[in-house]
Amino acid sequence: MEPGKIRKLEEVVVNRIAAGEVVQRPCNALKEMIENSLDAKATQIQVTVKQGGLKLLQIQDNGTGIRKEDLEIVCERFTTSKLREFEDLTSIATYGFRGEALASISHVAHLTITTRTNDSKCAWKASYVDSKLTGPPKPCAGNQGTQISVEDLFYNVATRRKALKSPGEEHAKVAEVVSRYAVHNSKVSFTLKKQGENSTDIRTPPNSTVVDNIRIIFGPSVARELLELSLEDDKLKFKLNGHISNANYSVKKCVFLLFINHRLVDSTALRKAIETVYASYLPKNSHPFMYLSLEIAPQNVDVNVHPTKHEVHFLHEESIIEKIQQAVETRLLGCNSSRTFYTQALLPGANPAPELVNENEQSGSSGSGEKKDKIYAHQMVRTDSRDQKLDKFLSKPARNKDEQMDEDFEESGNSSSNDPKPERREIRLTSVLMLISEFENGCHAGLREAVKNMTFVGCVNPQYALIQHGNKLYLTNTSSLSEELFYQLLLADFGNFGVLKLSTPASINELALIALDLEESGWSEADGNKEDLANYIVTLLQSKSPMLDDYFSLKIDDDGNLCTLPYIIDDYVPAMEGLPMYILRLATEVDWDDEKECFQTFCRETARFYRIQRNNEPNQVEANDNWKWVVEHVIYPAMRKSLLPPQHFAQDTTFLQIANLTDLYRVFERC
Ligand code: ADP
Ligand code: MG
Repeated sequence: MEPGKIRKLEEVVVNRIAAGEVVQRPCNALKEMIENSLDAKATQIQVTVKQGGLKLLQIQDNGTGIRKEDLEIVCERFTTSKLREFEDLTSIATYGFRGEALASISHVAHLTITTRTNDSKCAWKASYVDSKLTGPPKPCAGNQGTQISVEDLFYNVATRRKALKSPGEEHAKVAEVVSRYAVHNSKVSFTLKKQGENSTDIRTPPNSTVVDNIRIIFGPSVARELLELSLEDDKLKFKLNGHISNANYSVKKCVFLLFINHRLVDSTALRKAIETVYASYLPKNSHPFMYLSLEIAPQNVDVNVHPTKHEVHFLHEESIIEKIQQAVETRLLGCNSSRTFYTQALLPGANPAPELVNENEQSGSSGSGEKKDKIYAHQMVRTDSRDQKLDKFLSKPARNKDEQMDEDFEESGNSSSNDPKPERREIRLTSVLMLISEFENGCHAGLREAVKNMTFVGCVNPQYALIQHGNKLYLTNTSSLSEELFYQLLLADFGNFGVLKLSTPASINELALIALDLEESGWSEADGNKEDLANYIVTLLQSKSPMLDDYFSLKIDDDGNLCTLPYIIDDYVPAMEGLPMYILRLATEVDWDDEKECFQTFCRETARFYRIQRNNEPNQVEANDNWKWVVEHVIYPAMRKSLLPPQHFAQDTTFLQIANLTDLYRVFERC
């Protein structure tokens, strides 16, 4: 038998195979194109896709554009405007395509570039196949910047095409890439949309901040719980900046955004190392959110890694990782003890301040390690040692969250607000925006300051708590504060709630009947037959159900059962005793006719149901102290983060100053 003849492969075939290695999925190509736009100093980047980028992947920027005379060679391999000298290679081409991106794409897709530079009179459009122009560039209308369209990716590489995931999965990957670059480049405005659709999947404003973009893309529940991280090391020659979630926040799957020298990459070693730190702070099987931007001397990044392999290695990897671990640990610890709870073992006057502070820390009666402002002995509050709770010495209080959740609810697998929601909806309803600006404008600046910096002292009962701010001690009305908090969150997170799923759907008819039997309902014969009223309530709420589901994650099934409620803050489930009255009041107190009134009254009623209720007290107190934990660790921290107290809280009894500690001590000293 004759040996097979060895033939040299045709050049285009070689190129195609090579290109298929470089560009494996739409999101790889997109990543390269986003980087090109950023290199071209774009401040706006719009991505449009069809079928997850398989049919069309288009990116439009307002960058410098490409000069007409460069259009001919721009898609050839090893053409780049970014490095001129060979020496640059070692410092610049850390993991780049070195002028290969566009060339590679043109080998596996139909590529069209429309571009206009600042000094050109018109835009120029050119199409490419296998690195070459298909014809001379044509003049056309267009703004400054570049639009690159990649159509029918892998039309000529059947094997690659087959290896691809579904358009849905590719789209998710594309969205992931866009959202990550949007967080990292917060000054640049990014949008992602599907072709032919008006609404955007992702939209970030220009000149935004990293945290705002995290809020827009990953949702407020994580944005509220971020710790800033920054670290610089001259010896190891690296710099780190980032935002990581604190110990109050966790997700089912770790969200890790890593940029090394401004390129989106992955480092399993680094991720795992940080996750070990979190392991002692987070509940089992839950994970943090982390965004890290690491800058390393370029020559220290391993260049031997294939361009598409996002996984990177770098010199001194272990030492750098260890430093980062330490920084994360310090940050988590610091946050854990930020809840300052100053206590004093001795009456004042006996000791000068510094020793006293130390003594208190050593005796363990102070819950803090790191203090922002020095607190002098005369400013401290004396509290009863019996009020000391073990849980404040634990990073995660011993509270059986699962048990509590399971009583009435299970967190729904796919849309709990714990999960990152890359497709957070932007709400533009004027009514909602107006309601938000009403409470924003009506905020009492002094009270906001007090709430933001308050120290939680303890619960008096479910309705009242004690807080300290400065030298003043206040009795605060937890019920009214929490009601306002929920009201504001219902509007702020409008249309973006996770769901609390009732483990067994509750019949609205029965709930209404229970409510009507309560004295609180004020039902009288004149109101009509209870059964009729209950039926009316079912019909009314069912007719509103698509809207309630869409905006508030409140689902009512066809049989008239309530299935889910909005998940407003992590770890919080409203007291179910209030459910019947809530249902009744939805029918009687909500103005369903006028849009703004409707949202306002609905949010009010829902907040009323979610607030910490006075009557949580009687039997529950002894049975379990869960409400106390919730008030201290869920409600007050949430208020500290986002409650904007309305003006009237300063006049009514919501904040009652009961002592000015400086005066109090003067009194004591005379004794
Ligand atoms: P590289 O980015 O490594 O230079 P590419 O193949 O990605 O290689 O791009 C080739 C060249 O095309 C770039 O060097 C740049 O001059 C030009 N280019 C590509 N995309 C853009 C864009 N969006 N705006 C301006 N110039 C671009
Ligand atoms: Mg490039």
